[in-house]
Amino acid sequence: TMTVTEYDTIAAISTPPGEGAISIVRLSGEDAIAIAQRVFKGKDLTAVATHTINYGHIIDPKTNIEIDEVMISVMRAPKTFTREDVIEINCHGGIVATNKILQLLLSNGARLAEPGEFTKRAFLHGRIDLTQAESVMDLIRAKTDRSMKVALNQLDGNLSHLIRNLRQDILDVLAQVEVNIDYPEYDDVETMTTKLLKEKAQEVKARIQQLLKTAQQGKVLREGLATAIVGRPNVGKSSLLNHLLHEDKAIVTEIAGTTRDVIEEYVNVRGVPLKLVDTAGIRETTDKVEAIGVERSRKAIDQADLVMLVLNSSEALTTEDQKLIAATQDKKRIVILNKTDLARKLDETELQKYVSQDEILATSVLKNSGMDELEEKIAILFFGGIENSQTTVMVTNARHIGLLNQAEDSLDAVLSGISAGMPVDLVQIDMTNAWELLGEITGDSYQDELLTQLFSQFCLGK
Ligand code: GDP
Ligand code: ZN
Repeated sequence: TMTVTEYDTIAAISTPPGEGAISIVRLSGEDAIAIAQRVFKGKDLTAVATHTINYGHIIDPKTNIEIDEVMISVMRAPKTFTREDVIEINCHGGIVATNKILQLLLSNGARLAEPGEFTKRAFLHGRIDLTQAESVMDLIRAKTDRSMKVALNQLDGNLSHLIRNLRQDILDVLAQVEVNIDYPEYDDVETMTTKLLKEKAQEVKARIQQLLKTAQQGKVLREGLATAIVGRPNVGKSSLLNHLLHEDKAIVTEIAGTTRDVIEEYVNVRGVPLKLVDTAGIRETTDKVEAIGVERSRKAIDQADLVMLVLNSSEALTTEDQKLIAATQDKKRIVILNKTDLARKLDETELQKYVSQDEILATSVLKNSGMDELEEKIAILFFGGIENSQTTVMVTNARHIGLLNQAEDSLDAVLSGISAGMPVDLVQIDMTNAWELLGEITGDSYQDELLTQLFSQFCLGK
């Protein structure tokens, strides 16, 4: 159970940091409207109708100095995101003005929101369940349309719906078992009960396994597929990288929580978000004509889920090529035979001794040939088995995956208990465990620490 804390009024800047045309400062809580009124010159916000937008100015009440021209949305509980009174101040942006407004709110009775606190309140007030809260976070981070769809799907509560059905099934069978134990009128009640439990455990386990199958792809959608482009100097790595970055939508993301100047590059290839590993190493070599040390390549290869190994088809295979082929042997890889517009010198029969035919792709980055096939290959590698249906429920969240695995373990314990002839009331315990673990996914059973940890991952202002 949850200790309900007092819901004081919280404030935060809800738009991303930096210069923008418009910034939004958000307030939520009992005093939200009163606090906004204290720094506002315009209509009386405490008297306006709910869900209205009101024009006016933010002023510093101490000095009467005007800070910004604003539009203030007034939304009264309960029909708001947090189910509390919510104020949204649309100001003209600019870091200075926006921060000044936030500071004014803080010195007039609001408290700075913790990361994710708005969403946490929505959860605590029953407006959304845990998977939905998590999907808000996923949406903020979604890198491609497809990840966006998965997150939206989850926001709709599809995963929760599925999990709740599983839990209901377990509960039904547990109730039945309880009845059988309490009224052992028939001789074969033990056998019957065992049969019931076994069938249900198998059925739920199968459905959990189905869900877990989507997890691998889900992780890729959520975090991006770590991709390394390797190859010896001059084979066309930078050209390939630039092709990917320019032809496709390059998304450069600043990763929150790490050093501010860590920039990760993402490209969206047919819905697969590729997170490019060590592009600095590739870029460097365009300037200096200098080999990327094999050591550096190895590091990039280690970190990668997918390796694109580029070879020059207009030259014979070198020992360095051979080394890279060996180093990527156990990786998911695409061996790109580049510069096919030039006379072929590389012996493909020799190459096929080390690399299987379906890993090889002939390209000419210069003449833009084979690039569609490359994108196709990347997409097929990762979505081959999965239909592109919007209704597919995918598990994308590490916490959910962990709990599903644990629930599966509990069901395995049920099954092995039954085959070992364990008494029904012991088997029942494992079944109940599975039910509770599934409940943690949706937040139907949850613990304080979990909540704190979960919501603290959110960005400020969400
Ligand atoms: P990197 O050192 O592996 O990054 O290779 P670069 O991308 O810098 O390319 C080296 C040289 O090869 C440049 O002059 C490119 O224009 C050229 N190049 C790249 N791809 C091709 C290709 O498909 N065909 C031909 N003929 N030249 C290419
Ligand atoms: Zn280069």
